[in-house]
Amino acid sequence: MTRSGPAFLEQLLFPPCCYLCSANLQREAKGHLRYICRHCLSRLPFNLALSRTFPALADQPPTDTALPYWRRTPLPPLFSVFFYEGVIRELILGLKFGGRLENARLLGSLMAAVLAEELKRSHLRPTAVVPMPLSHNRRLRRGYNQSELLADFLAAELGLEVLPLVIRSRETARQSELKTLAERKSNVKDAFALAPDVTEQALRDRQFILVDDVLTSGYTMLTCAEVLQAAGARIICLVAASGTRKIF
Ligand SMILES: [Zn+2]
Repeated sequence: MTRSGPAFLEQLLFPPCCYLCSANLQREAKGHLRYICRHCLSRLPFNLALSRTFPALADQPPTDTALPYWRRTPLPPLFSVFFYEGVIRELILGLKFGGRLENARLLGSLMAAVLAEELKRSHLRPTAVVPMPLSHNRRLRRGYNQSELLADFLAAELGLEVLPLVIRSRETARQSELKTLAERKSNVKDAFALAPDVTEQALRDRQFILVDDVLTSGYTMLTCAEVLQAAGARIICLVAASGTRKIF
């Protein structure tokens, strides 16, 4: 018997085995379990305890520096699905700097699994996913935007659209290279703008999720969310694949 068609091709290209240890996976597995075995899944540095309230989209910087700033004012929830360490750090570095675009498939599906659980417990019903933009030059150098790839796979799992609503309006330094919150805030100030073809209609009556790969201080996502909200978009949550442990 010969096999042909897209299903066979997909099995050939993406055989059902664990992305991390190559163990065989069940053919009927769904969601992220199509890409990772339960053993490897149980060893990932999940950050499930993190379901923080994001800080106010206010101009005023917080004055109480004893707490991480987003714990001081209620706003849309911020989810960092993993800690930026171990195999997750390797997957993200491979995705960003090693051309391992396929890493986004596993990370995006895991983000979707966690987010689906969080959304189930809330009244929020997102309609589209917005990737954090890269600057024009950085995107040209890399050839792709890793946040867009994560958004693609996350959105596919959740049955949502991906809308690149925002652009970087200027180059910025990497947030991870800056030491203080003040430096990070000033680094991303005015760094985002609405994409030129975005209409009010694209924003009206819809709920958006903003997606990034690594959360450093949170200021980058916050600043980007501010631009969208100022244009009338309703951002219901900000979700990053990973975040450093110390900032939480
Ligand atoms: Zn495995």
